[in-house]
Amino acid sequence: MQTSFSPAQLADPHIAESEKIVRKCVHCGFCTATCPTYVTLGNELDSPRGRIYLIKDMLEAGRAADKETVTHIDRCLSCLACMTTCPSGVHYMHLVDHARAHIEQTYRRPLLDRLVRAALAAILPHPSRFRAALRLAKLGRPFAGLFRSVPALKPVAAMLDLAPASVPAGSRIALPAVHRPQTATRGRVALLTGCAQSVLDPGINEATVRLLTRLGVEVVVPEGEGCCGALVHHMGREADSLAAARNNVDAWTRVLQTGGLDAILITASGCGTTIKDYGFMLRLDEAYAAKAARVSALAKDVTEYLATLDLPAPAMHTGQAVAYHSACSMQHGQKIARQPRELLQRAGFRLVEPREGHLCCGSAGTYNILQPDISARLRERKVKNLAATGAELIATGNIGCMTQIGSRAGMPILHTVELLDWAYGGPKPAALG
Ligand code: SF4
Ligand code: SF4
Repeated sequence: MQTSFSPAQLADPHIAESEKIVRKCVHCGFCTATCPTYVTLGNELDSPRGRIYLIKDMLEAGRAADKETVTHIDRCLSCLACMTTCPSGVHYMHLVDHARAHIEQTYRRPLLDRLVRAALAAILPHPSRFRAALRLAKLGRPFAGLFRSVPALKPVAAMLDLAPASVPAGSRIALPAVHRPQTATRGRVALLTGCAQSVLDPGINEATVRLLTRLGVEVVVPEGEGCCGALVHHMGREADSLAAARNNVDAWTRVLQTGGLDAILITASGCGTTIKDYGFMLRLDEAYAAKAARVSALAKDVTEYLATLDLPAPAMHTGQAVAYHSACSMQHGQKIARQPRELLQRAGFRLVEPREGHLCCGSAGTYNILQPDISARLRERKVKNLAATGAELIATGNIGCMTQIGSRAGMPILHTVELLDWAYGGPKPAALG
């Protein structure tokens, strides 16, 4: 795509990066076929190609974001299916991240939108606040219908709908600790315990630590680590997301310097995609660029790391039919397809693949709260495809998808690592009764 940025504009490294990305697009439109919002809404401006044009126009003109551009960028899930499809290697993720930061800096949203976004940014990344908010949501649930009838308050209704009926008790697994291996040591990793996941389902990290320590891996939950910053990053809150990234880079660098690390493990693929991008996000920060690149190079999804270990024979084969739901951040963001499937099969599960596996379930960070209508359409489509597999349960690697799909799936949905822990001698997951 031709561009006409001025030399002065190109002196800004953010503009220079986006210009390089835009120029790679040859407008072929292949990406439209796999874009969930284009497939759902049928509007070119809700396709990757349409959004690239809108972003290019906005940045080239050097103007503040307008309502139309914001509408179509807000509807993007950042699912990155377009990056998997694009034959020209267009790095849409960095382009839309830049556009979101530009929108946040130059566009004044309506008051209620601003309040909802500020509340999400202030609550979700902090486990104690999030836990308190979920408990409060129980009291507000009877009013969800009322909120749904006012368009500007639909996000509040969506939050109430998504809140679980009961909030699990806090788990010690989120506390800083060194979990020693139960057999001869064959590795040492840091584990991101995360923010929302540690509140919604602490059993995922408990299963991870049990499985890894049984396999001879020392697991460090470092002092000072926190939210990866993905939630605020996707809302364009650049300063907040960079602060979260720096905080984690510091926490993991301290562990690296005192005993080394084979990997930094992440059990939520949405977080993994962002942490693998820390090196890019902090590239202009001289004090952090090298450390962040090191952290990104060490970041691995838990299934990526498990696949490098020589696993023993499983303790039991259930032979259960498992539909594997590959989160967008897993398959498109991190290009991890083979490892979780192979691990589940080797552990004795019978894998079945849903149709349209490339399409997002509509979770996408805070998307299911901020864009509840499109999100609900994508969820119904996903749930239908999963049910059609005839599976007994669903496995996935991202807490956002588990929350989104779980409420409607009609069958248990578990994290891949919970099933692996069970197969290799751990307890039966509570969700399986
Ligand atoms: S990230 Fe997903 S929703 Fe956004 S343009 Fe790409 S395919 Fe479409
Ligand atoms: S597939 Fe790639 S090159 Fe083709 S229109 Fe989409 S982003 Fe541009």
